[in-house]
Amino acid sequence: MPEPEVAGSTDLELAGLTKRYGDFTAVDALDLTVPAGSFFALLGPSGCGKTTTLRMIAGLEVPTAGSVTLAGDDITRLKPYRRPVNTVFQSYALFPHLTVRDNVAFGPRRKGASKREAADDVGRMLDLVELAEYAARKPAQLSGGQQQRVALARALINSPQVLLLDEPLGALDLKLRRQMQVELKRIQIDVGLTFIHVTHDQEEAMTMADTVAVMNHGRIEQMGAPEELYDLPRTTFVANFLGRSNLVPGSVTRTSGGNVEVQVDGASVTAPAERAVSGEGKVWVGVRPEKVQLRAPDETGAAANHLRGGVVSDVSFVGVSTEYLVRMPWGQELTVFEQNHTSSRRLRTGDEVDLSWAPEHTFLLDAAQDAT
Ligand code: ATP
Repeated sequence: MPEPEVAGSTDLELAGLTKRYGDFTAVDALDLTVPAGSFFALLGPSGCGKTTTLRMIAGLEVPTAGSVTLAGDDITRLKPYRRPVNTVFQSYALFPHLTVRDNVAFGPRRKGASKREAADDVGRMLDLVELAEYAARKPAQLSGGQQQRVALARALINSPQVLLLDEPLGALDLKLRRQMQVELKRIQIDVGLTFIHVTHDQEEAMTMADTVAVMNHGRIEQMGAPEELYDLPRTTFVANFLGRSNLVPGSVTRTSGGNVEVQVDGASVTAPAERAVSGEGKVWVGVRPEKVQLRAPDETGAAANHLRGGVVSDVSFVGVSTEYLVRMPWGQELTVFEQNHTSSRRLRTGDEVDLSWAPEHTFLLDAAQDAT
């Protein structure tokens, strides 16, 4: 009788994974599960420990403590080449003297396959990354994006269970980067492997990944689907790292009828009750700039959350939208993004405005954290 399949058994699990260099803790007791077949992004600022985490998964760095388990096997102490894991680096690391075809054939050839035996797999991989017509070229005769795809094909031909991508798009210009983000996502869906992508670019992580883990100082601050992290950040770091936020200081006054009421300077705003944070009292009231509407001071019928007495202090036209900075009576500058196609009016510096937004767009954060 076949063994019953254990749910989640091909997941990658990190448990208490730690790396210390002397007194410095680069990765601090990470616990996380990457579901098999998912596109997972490790996102964080420079120095937060992303690459060190990836290197421990690859076996290029020995953990100080903790374990790496893949498909139920503890691989923490396994040599890199014995792990069903491959890495694509930012530098591509292609062999300059070999053709595209021979670069991609490198893995199977090293395992003893003849050129003819490897040819079918190489052909499939080159089709997958749409480079079949470049097979006879050398890396120097390719663009950055094409070299990147060769590196990807060279890793994928080894049929790893997990593909690690360490800032693989970092060397590309912005336009090519955006194209490759779409390409990488398509390839991941095609091959169905687990991709773990390291980046400091929040847009890149949110565009491609099913799940994003935001890292800071060697720890995971928050993990979830991109929309969830963006709409409901749980820390000021996540709120600020993933896009722009307005964080206004306030005090919780009461919770009733499914809402939390918060007093901010001169106004009461509400948020859904489930957004309440522990440690009653002082909070940051958060709202994303594109969720805020600008209103004339005398306008009535605004949504429940309405802050009066703002003065426009800066206007930046950015094509599809306009970014306004609005100085509030308590001295704080709030940011508002307005889509240009939804509004024909143009406000100028010095104009008086009110701000309003719907309660469901409010998130609350514990005020014990620094807002910056
Ligand atoms: P980046 O985006 O800049 O690559 P990162 O998040 O990938 O950053 P890591 O390369 O993982 O960061 O480094 C995490 C921290 O560990 C950094 O502060 C780094 O200086 C430190 N570190 C990394 N390798 C070593 C080492 N061999 N010896 C001492 N400290 C190290």
